[in-house]
Amino acid sequence: MNIVNVETSKKKIMLQKPLWSLYIHIPFCTTRCTYCAFNTYTDKHLLIDEYVQAVCAEVELLSHLDQPIHTIYLGGGTPSLLKPSQLEQIISHVLINFTYNSILEITQEINPRDASEAYLHALRKNVSRLSLGMQSVNPSELQMFSRDHDHPHVVQAVKFARLAGFDNINLDLIYGNPGQTLAMWRDSVQAALDLDPDHLSMYALSLENGTELKRRVTYGELPMPDPDLAADMYELASEMMAAAGFVQYEISNWAKPGKFCQHNIQYWKNLPYLGIGAGAHGYANQVRTVNVMRPELYIERLKNLPSNPLPFPQTPATMTAEPIDRQTDMFETIFTGLRLLDEGLSLKAFEQRYGEKLEVRFADEIKRLTRMGLLWQAGDALKLTKSARLISNRVFQEFAVEEEA
Ligand code: SF4
Repeated sequence: MNIVNVETSKKKIMLQKPLWSLYIHIPFCTTRCTYCAFNTYTDKHLLIDEYVQAVCAEVELLSHLDQPIHTIYLGGGTPSLLKPSQLEQIISHVLINFTYNSILEITQEINPRDASEAYLHALRKNVSRLSLGMQSVNPSELQMFSRDHDHPHVVQAVKFARLAGFDNINLDLIYGNPGQTLAMWRDSVQAALDLDPDHLSMYALSLENGTELKRRVTYGELPMPDPDLAADMYELASEMMAAAGFVQYEISNWAKPGKFCQHNIQYWKNLPYLGIGAGAHGYANQVRTVNVMRPELYIERLKNLPSNPLPFPQTPATMTAEPIDRQTDMFETIFTGLRLLDEGLSLKAFEQRYGEKLEVRFADEIKRLTRMGLLWQAGDALKLTKSARLISNRVFQEFAVEEEA
């Protein structure tokens, strides 16, 4: 079944409807990376079969046959711990139950170690975009992170993915690591570019509570990362990516023209998405949902369905459902939209969505930030300047202050 670039279908797209996205969480990993605070488990693989059934059940409960979707993202955890047949089961289930766009972006995160030639060939039938966790080219950093792959795995994975026909491949890198030098970071960015990816995501390391890496830094076993050096790394990466012809379309994301990640753009435009799976987050009909975290509980909740259906977008797996008021939605649209460096925040789209002009409602903030050289307007779009990219949270905060006043 090739579901990418479907031309004709009884599920014909209804162009007048806004498109939605689906995020599907697969909470299983082989080992726990030292920096990772995601909802994932290394000792629950025996649940995978039942988990797939539960995901399919939640897909059915959330399906709105007249609501077209345009992206599906399988993240984790490690979705590549599922067999291709299990992934196909999930994706087929989505496509049977949802209306979809004629060009559907289906991304799967994959551990470079799982990316055998046979696996990628099987995956290509259902998945259009791959996201590989490269993180670093440096063996000592991969070891510090307890990653279970090394760089030759990444090289081989990209080669096999191309052979299987993938023309949209992302690599993830992390910078600002304990003990990392600028030269080490240059090597990682260059090694990623040498693989000719279509998209690169580069994230500053965040030392999350409860992680092994935070513990080791706190107890002095590893040096505290230097934020000034991390800023230099960001600048260096921006220069290298621009020289290689990539567009920095978001604060932490670079892509070749035409290869921007449509799924993540949905988040940055603060548009609806449904979160499916243990611990998944969703945002639809002005309600933010978070599912129960533990896979056992998730499975149990979807086996024992209540007799009365819950109000959409809740399912029996929902742990919290928080209504988002218009004001909060507006601020979130500004914060996330300004992250889109290339496109910026469209003034027209804002007015259409909220019935008031951004440039009037926030006239003082925009004037102040523009004077400070942090914002600029290009045609219909409000954008962060180059110097604002490293202090974007400060810019966003200026808009939030208005709400509190
Ligand atoms: S592979 Fe990803 S989700 Fe799994 S432990 Fe590592 S960082 Fe976390």
